[in-house]
Amino acid sequence: MRWTQAFIPTLKEDPADAEISSHKLMVRAGLVRKLTSGVYTHLPLGLRAIQKVERIVREEMDRTGALETLLPILHPCELWKESGRWDVYGKELMRPVDRHGRECALGPTHEEVITDLVRREVRSYRELPVTFYQIQTKFRDEVRPRFGVVRSREFIMKDAYSFHEDEKSLRETYKVMHGAYTRIFERCGLKFAPVHADSGAIGGDVTHEFMVLAGAGESEVVSCGCGYSATLERGETAPEKPSGKGVELKPLEKVHTPGLKTVEEVAKFLKTEPSSLIKTLLYEAEGETVAALIPGDRELNEAKLRRVLKVDLMTMCEAEAIEKATGGPLGFSGPVGLEKMRLVADPRIKNVKNFVVGANEADYHHVNANLERDFKVNQFADLVVAEERDPCVKCGKPVSISRGIEVGQIFELGSKYSEKMGAMFLGQDGKERPFVMGCYGIGITRTVAAVIEQNHDSNGIIWPLSVAPYQMEVLPVNVNDETIRTTAERLYEELTGMGFEVLLDDRDQRPGFKFKDADLVGLPLRVVVGEKAMAEGKVEIHVRRTGETMRASTDEAPGRIKTLIEEGKVS
Ligand code: ATP
Ligand code: MG
Repeated sequence: MRWTQAFIPTLKEDPADAEISSHKLMVRAGLVRKLTSGVYTHLPLGLRAIQKVERIVREEMDRTGALETLLPILHPCELWKESGRWDVYGKELMRPVDRHGRECALGPTHEEVITDLVRREVRSYRELPVTFYQIQTKFRDEVRPRFGVVRSREFIMKDAYSFHEDEKSLRETYKVMHGAYTRIFERCGLKFAPVHADSGAIGGDVTHEFMVLAGAGESEVVSCGCGYSATLERGETAPEKPSGKGVELKPLEKVHTPGLKTVEEVAKFLKTEPSSLIKTLLYEAEGETVAALIPGDRELNEAKLRRVLKVDLMTMCEAEAIEKATGGPLGFSGPVGLEKMRLVADPRIKNVKNFVVGANEADYHHVNANLERDFKVNQFADLVVAEERDPCVKCGKPVSISRGIEVGQIFELGSKYSEKMGAMFLGQDGKERPFVMGCYGIGITRTVAAVIEQNHDSNGIIWPLSVAPYQMEVLPVNVNDETIRTTAERLYEELTGMGFEVLLDDRDQRPGFKFKDADLVGLPLRVVVGEKAMAEGKVEIHVRRTGETMRASTDEAPGRIKTLIEEGKVS
């Protein structure tokens, strides 16, 4: 491709709305342009990188035996009502209404649509297992679209769905997909880790997220040297060893705490530590009001609570609901006297004696509240957001928390969707049973951004060879110099003829300008045809990643490049 015929609108300045490197560089290198919030146009160069990732994904999916299909983007609302997700998915689900007033959904994921297909078409265990996949545009009306294509409202995803006779078969395919995902992200040149995750609105219990390690990532990962790793939503840590042993239990007292609602305010007023308070948080969980108790200095992890309560829909109670359930206003809830309600507590509260808790009455707290004596808990479960240096659940050593970009997730769904949607097959015993399912997603456009997030320097992108829009650039420093121009043209023809994807910067621009663009666009190899080296009949071969530069005669250059690539010197 000749630059003069290409469309690569590079920019000197970072776009004002870009916070992270990949977003800045994708705009500056002419890969994407924003249409509106969370919606991007992929320009020719960006599309080539997307297609490279797609090719890797297709090859690895085909290798697993998964079958490529293309499902509709527009879904009738009935399917989503059948699965129960019409209500659960919330505002992220875009819901257009057609001319007949029928509500529809723009697919954010396709469990419903594929389950509908399979319940109609697949009858017997003899046709199982079967896995379908597609690469397609998805829609999610994200609360906070940001970071360019990392979190957009319209994006390209590869999604796959597997159908099985039983759990054993599902587990086999899950393992195969785990392997395929590992190869895909390795081939994309990413440093990543599969981590245990929470299944959110998708459902199921066994699930891994593939995290690209990056400081700018939105996801947090809890990990330990012993090998334990999980997303922050899922990550468990062990409670510290109890310290309250031998402490004398003092009598329960009600104290006046006028207008003091936050943990910090109350602790300061009572001259104690936030860790001596218990936060009592009320949630509405599918029709039941539940109280969650955690130490005052910790944050509640809603994903964990949702899992403990085994519900999909759970919202924090508003002031009015709190008043109704406890008799006291928001900010003054406490477990004493809440016998009617289910109390779920984090085991860390066992460590403290003589707590401060709300008294379920305006402007009052209880001091010296004690577990068992003053209130009872129905269930203990890890409920807090893990923190750096908490003891690891596996080995007890302090965990660390790092950031990553989730590029893929795989789920063992089980029969959640098939049961709800009546998707049945005839088993070997002649009995009907629901399909056992798995699902597997990769954010294609997010993966391209993650590649850039991990592969760049202050001058621009450093494309891994496998996903680079072109493998190399031929850069004549002066196109008005006959020898330089014809040499560059010849090299371009020769390299292209060898099967390489080559970009020729044939623009009549100053060398400095062209070099800057070459660094920004960041193709793995650059062949510079310049005056000095040409005087000796040579050109310069430059490796973008290492900065290594070598000279070769114009005749030898194509062979040298081929060898560099074949020997893995360019990655
Ligand atoms: P997140 O937690 O980041 O919102 P998710 O867990 O909801 O993502 P999945 O349902 O697992 O996403 O979708 C599969 C893959 O699709 C994700 O691993 C991610 O790579 C990609 N993806 C999800 N949401 C977006 C988005 N808004 N923009 C770009 N890619 C996305
Ligand atoms: Mg996910």
